[in-house]
Amino acid sequence: MKVRVLGAFGGEGLGQRPSSFLVNDRVLVDAGNVTGALTVKEQLAVEHALISHSHLDHTCGLAYLAETLGTLPPRTPVTIASAEPVVNALRTSMFNNVLWPDFSRIPSAEQPVLRFRSLVEEAEQRVGDLWVTPVAVSHTVPTFGFIVHDGDTGFVYSGDTGPTVALWKAARGLRSIRAVILECAYPDRLGDLAAIAGHLTPALVRRELDKLPPNVPVWIFHVKPQYQDETVEELSRIDSGRVLVVEQDKTYVV
Ligand SMILES: [Zn+2]
Ligand SMILES: [Zn+2]
Repeated sequence: MKVRVLGAFGGEGLGQRPSSFLVNDRVLVDAGNVTGALTVKEQLAVEHALISHSHLDHTCGLAYLAETLGTLPPRTPVTIASAEPVVNALRTSMFNNVLWPDFSRIPSAEQPVLRFRSLVEEAEQRVGDLWVTPVAVSHTVPTFGFIVHDGDTGFVYSGDTGPTVALWKAARGLRSIRAVILECAYPDRLGDLAAIAGHLTPALVRRELDKLPPNVPVWIFHVKPQYQDETVEELSRIDSGRVLVVEQDKTYVV
């Protein structure tokens, strides 16, 4: 399974794109930035978008992806998939004809650019060629991590979260899990802000490690661009041999 990092960060900076991953060229996992990282041909290959939550640094890329696709000849719609509260938020707050056009009715309701799909929480279901289980995590709005596998290998994606339990419990014992893609937003000195905003710091990542599936590599994403150097330096001091910070535009194989 290929996991390409389209955006590695928890915000936007110079050359730093918000969180977005592309699995096997076809399935987005979050969509903070899509069109700034893919050619039009690559955008056309996208079939599904798994969205952890409604925040813009995970969804903004859907707006421009929809616009690109809307000007091209009709094709199979991109399915935006998540648990129901996230799908509802995207429908009512983003693709609502105010913030952005409702691309689930463009160019027509019969043959739209986007369609929405509500996933069942804590149940495994098919998304393209993958199996996906959404599990609620601990953030300021309804947010879901995903357990993703193809029957052979896979990974766990945390979405945005503070310290959490259910996702790690659900992933324990699954032999196909080869990596945990885990958020970390702020340096340790901003621990109070991380607690209010529902995020992790390097110190909290260290504590989270004991709850994760054992011996599985941990790939950090979602560092805030303005605190990159400080946060990455603190992460490098976690002496577990398991933790790496993902590199934008790199493709990892699990
Ligand atoms: Zn975020
Ligand atoms: Zn968020």
